[in-house]
Amino acid sequence: MVLPKYDLHCHSTASDGVLSPVELVARAAEQGVEVLAITDHDSIGAIAQAQAPAQAANIRLLPGVELTACWGSRVVHLVGLGFDPAAPSLQRYLDELTVLRLDRAQRIAKKLMGRRLPDLLPAVLELAGDGQVGRPHFAMALVAAGVCETEQQAFKNYLGTGKVGDVKMDWPAMSEALALLHGIGGLGILAHPTKYRLTFSRLRSLLTDFVNAGGDGVEVSYAGIKPEHQRELQKIARKMDLMVSAGSDFHQPGRPWVELGRFLPLDTECRHVLTSLL
Ligand code: AMP
Ligand code: FE
Ligand code: FE
Ligand code: ZN
Repeated sequence: MVLPKYDLHCHSTASDGVLSPVELVARAAEQGVEVLAITDHDSIGAIAQAQAPAQAANIRLLPGVELTACWGSRVVHLVGLGFDPAAPSLQRYLDELTVLRLDRAQRIAKKLMGRRLPDLLPAVLELAGDGQVGRPHFAMALVAAGVCETEQQAFKNYLGTGKVGDVKMDWPAMSEALALLHGIGGLGILAHPTKYRLTFSRLRSLLTDFVNAGGDGVEVSYAGIKPEHQRELQKIARKMDLMVSAGSDFHQPGRPWVELGRFLPLDTECRHVLTSLL
């Protein structure tokens, strides 16, 4: 099967992306993307808005989401693809995540105030608009308030792993997220496996648990992954009989190394998720 040009992981203003769903589709069209999944953090708010422009641009829009989940004490991201976006169980599940995210935002704001910073919550909620609120909105607010020079620095000093704004949350378990996706006819893909700061040996045990919980595939190509890690992941995917997926994880323009439609798996021996989605 010759695969079309695709992107199966990107973000809009329905979560922490900068482009609206309509702008994101326009950019995908400019980049020649033919199959697109918008995978906002714990939100499918982009799908309804993207449908008409995608159709007009001859882009096949696949239902997508990036679910926040727990693997033990770790947070992992699961990309869900090809599910029924109208399923009531999905809406209930996402509503719970919205509550968790609002609760976390309040807690992060309090923690930062404990560091003698101003109350950033109003600005953060304004930045998030009607999308899911996330740490990147805090990063933007910290820059806007002149506390940090860049969003990267905001993560390094306040929001990243182990920092004051990294508050522990009881996200749903990875197995729950996978069960939800399967219950609504979707596939569950482990997002950007090398971004969890795990050794490859721990990563193998994550992937083993993921497979045992019914996981369907793993991303092997995305912005920032090293070629040797991509090869290793493809080898693991073949061994564990996992499908492979890829996407830019695009959040905003102005970063030429993270462009829509540029990340395609190379290993033709791996089964691609698109073969079961198209
Ligand atoms: P959240 O889901 O609210 O915890 O935010 C996770 C998002 O924050 C990721 O999807 C990235 O967009 C962003 N992010 C996480 N870590 C960093 C970092 N070190 N620097 C910049 N952005 C980051
Ligand atoms: Fe993000
Ligand atoms: Fe992610
Ligand atoms: Zn993402």
